[in-house]
Amino acid sequence: MNAYAQITVFGAVQGVGFRPFVWQLARQFGYSGWVLNNASGVKIFLKINSENNPEAEKQFVEALRGQAPALAQVDQVLWEWIDPNATHRELTELKDCCGFTIQKSRPGLMQTAVLADATTCSACLRDVFDPENRRYGYPFTNCTHCGPRYSIIRSMPYDREYTSMAGFNMCPVCQREYQDPSDRRFHAQPNACPACGPQLRLTQFLPSSETSHTQENGLSQPDNWRMIEQVCHYLAKGLILAIKGLGGFHLVCDAGNDSACRTLRQRKSRPQKPFALMASDMDIVKRYAKVSKAAEKKLNSTQAPIVLLPKLGKLPPSELSELVAPNQSRLGIMLPNTPLHSMLMSTWAKTCPNRLLVFTSANLSGYPQIYRDDKEAELMQLADAVLTHNRPIIRRLEDSVMKTSVEGNDCEALRQSRGFAPLRFTMPEGFPSLNTLASGGDLKNSIAFQKGNEITLLHFLGDMENFDIQTAYGEALQDLQQLYQLKPEHIITDKHPGYYVKEEILRYREKHAPAATLTEIQHHHAHLNACLFENAIPLGSPPVLGIILDGLGFGEDGTFWGGEILYGTYDHFIRLGNLAPRPLLGGDKANKEPWRNLYALVRTQDSLENLIQRYPQVKSLRQLQTKPTDLLDSMSKSGLNSPLSSSAGRLFDAVAAVCDLCFDSMSYEGEAAMRLEGLLNEELLLKEWENAYFMQTETNPQSNRQLLDTASIIPQILKDLNNHLSVGQVSARFHICLVKTLLKSAEQLREKFSFQYIVLSGGVCQNGWLIWLFRQMAPPEITLLTHRKLPANDQSIAVGQLCALAARRVNLC
Ligand SMILES: [Zn+2]
Ligand SMILES: [Zn+2]
Repeated sequence: MNAYAQITVFGAVQGVGFRPFVWQLARQFGYSGWVLNNASGVKIFLKINSENNPEAEKQFVEALRGQAPALAQVDQVLWEWIDPNATHRELTELKDCCGFTIQKSRPGLMQTAVLADATTCSACLRDVFDPENRRYGYPFTNCTHCGPRYSIIRSMPYDREYTSMAGFNMCPVCQREYQDPSDRRFHAQPNACPACGPQLRLTQFLPSSETSHTQENGLSQPDNWRMIEQVCHYLAKGLILAIKGLGGFHLVCDAGNDSACRTLRQRKSRPQKPFALMASDMDIVKRYAKVSKAAEKKLNSTQAPIVLLPKLGKLPPSELSELVAPNQSRLGIMLPNTPLHSMLMSTWAKTCPNRLLVFTSANLSGYPQIYRDDKEAELMQLADAVLTHNRPIIRRLEDSVMKTSVEGNDCEALRQSRGFAPLRFTMPEGFPSLNTLASGGDLKNSIAFQKGNEITLLHFLGDMENFDIQTAYGEALQDLQQLYQLKPEHIITDKHPGYYVKEEILRYREKHAPAATLTEIQHHHAHLNACLFENAIPLGSPPVLGIILDGLGFGEDGTFWGGEILYGTYDHFIRLGNLAPRPLLGGDKANKEPWRNLYALVRTQDSLENLIQRYPQVKSLRQLQTKPTDLLDSMSKSGLNSPLSSSAGRLFDAVAAVCDLCFDSMSYEGEAAMRLEGLLNEELLLKEWENAYFMQTETNPQSNRQLLDTASIIPQILKDLNNHLSVGQVSARFHICLVKTLLKSAEQLREKFSFQYIVLSGGVCQNGWLIWLFRQMAPPEITLLTHRKLPANDQSIAVGQLCALAARRVNLC
């Protein structure tokens, strides 16, 4: 007697080699039947040749979960026995079948998840480095367990014809691999080999004396190695190469060569912002940085992000140029993530042993990374030669960035893109099933949507002030139709009246979803929600206190918020405290020029002349004298171009400015805060613990609202600087003071409002020492919720927007 079962596997189980895995498993168990992809995931029909074997279910499900392919994510396995006497559509076929087969995906059936790109697996690397293998030196080697996905897909289903591999016809050998369920390359859509796949090309813009020979298309593998040797030879000579990666071009140079790094900074117009680095292996990473177990795991993961690691002591400048990461205590390092990178790095390790390569995105300052092949003219302005290939990149995917916590035991996301995107989450308990689209914000934008009970966060796009990013935003909206078949019933955007994404999402609604409801969610409530969400706090949980330290977000009262104490849940909040609002003198300029924020605080204390007399040793006060302060005073008086803001980011700018760290202007966003953070260490913080500044706080007796008077610390800082205290000490005293004051306010609020959790979110919370201080000082009965998977910055806004709407819909029911 036979028993029959149907099994549904939910999760990211398509396009990852799951069906051949089931095929092998069923054969191992000696079961007949078939497997196919369907709308919910993978469906398996089994004929089991021993009736109701009580162990059959347990053993098979355990194997499905425990032995699944590397890139698969099994969320749920549903096992149903089929009554042999029932009328079941598949039963007759199942009774008659012998052997186990893989059935074709049925047309019209949607694949559930679009998958992220994955770093080369160890088996493929062995092929590339094995002189006997037909893929020896072939930089586009991949299999079902690795390789490009999101970066090459145009539309669904995930079949080769809908990817940028469409133009390459598989040769008979590759085709055989593709069709053989026992092969690692079974249904690997980008499967390719030197005979049939994409080809490498080296284009040189060097003066002819530098040019040894020009490479052409259609090279054999030994030529690939020669080309890479040539590239390493150029790098060793101090030249700059543009190299095409998974999601865009990088500019690459020798990290130990000062003059190459200087030239690179000049060409990119990027004076200060740290460059990312690539190391050939973990031993090299450890030569330069402190690598915790958590960091090692991330560096070696299939996502292979850049990880910001604490720099090791003083390295000789001949090994690592000071220009790679000026004034930084951390280095951003990644390992190879494509076969081309692995070939390059292994050759580089022989050319210049123990040396890192700078791997920074190929772009001019303020512009996004170049990823399209028709931009060679722009690359020519940046690089001396270009190593590229003819497999188009469909969407720009910047390198993902993570940071180790200061304790070293954890890693936190700062940017989720290549390797992670699209990032998918199941909603915590209690949320309703909805179809919702969230616009995100104008800075560090990512779009997110809810489909059913899942949230998907798309790749990092960037700041909307740039035209190319606006174009990418439009393309990402198109993806919603082509890749996800989203039909939004609800659309959410930010409250900010001037946001580009708001206009764009309204146009989208008009065209694609005119019946969808439209909701605006306050920026910092979205931050609070994103953090609750990633900590899996169930819907209906009691209110929490949110300390949101951020740049700028449009507030409920029409001013700009950014240093907020909120009290609330997923669906609503009240504002219980904030940093005292100050004018952004000069409007937008105040976001880029720290001295303006310093002046906004200084002018509340005394006249500049009096302060200079009192603190003659403080250079930054004298520097303020050279600025048009009279004009700013009258602007502020008339309210012209000086909107009020309680931004925490601008407070850090002011403190950096008074310390004369990037006083005039920031060359990249967040520079002031990063400079202050970079001065800190545990010893210094412990030493300054008792010397922290004192920030005055007022409590409104009616509303209990806490107002933190940030300007009250200015005279204390001026006094310290006048007494020649180091800026490191000032930074430590300021950090401790800020956390102490916020927690004191929280303590006071707890007398009237009950809460067990404090949420820490907003861009400023990327500051590792700030989070460390919260951990040191928070009372033991309070649990701190912080970010790990979702960045604390505005990339997570869209996820928070989705949670707010979903929570409100429940309350409507
Ligand atoms: Zn592979
Ligand atoms: Zn082939």
